[in-house]
Amino acid sequence: MKCSFCNSDITPGTGKMYVKRDGTVLFFCSSKCEKNMLKLGRKSRKLKWVYKQRKQ
Ligand SMILES: [Zn+2]
Repeated sequence: MKCSFCNSDITPGTGKMYVKRDGTVLFFCSSKCEKNMLKLGRKSRKLKWVYKQRKQ
């Protein structure tokens, strides 16, 4: 099992599991990674949208 954010191995029984509303399951080695991932997720969605706008 690997952290969805920093990609480091998570010892079974530790870390956090996060289930998104669309059913995607994310694993985090720490709450720090969880916060960063959720922050980046918002950011990357915004960036994709900006990129699309530029392409058109
Ligand atoms: Zn991590």
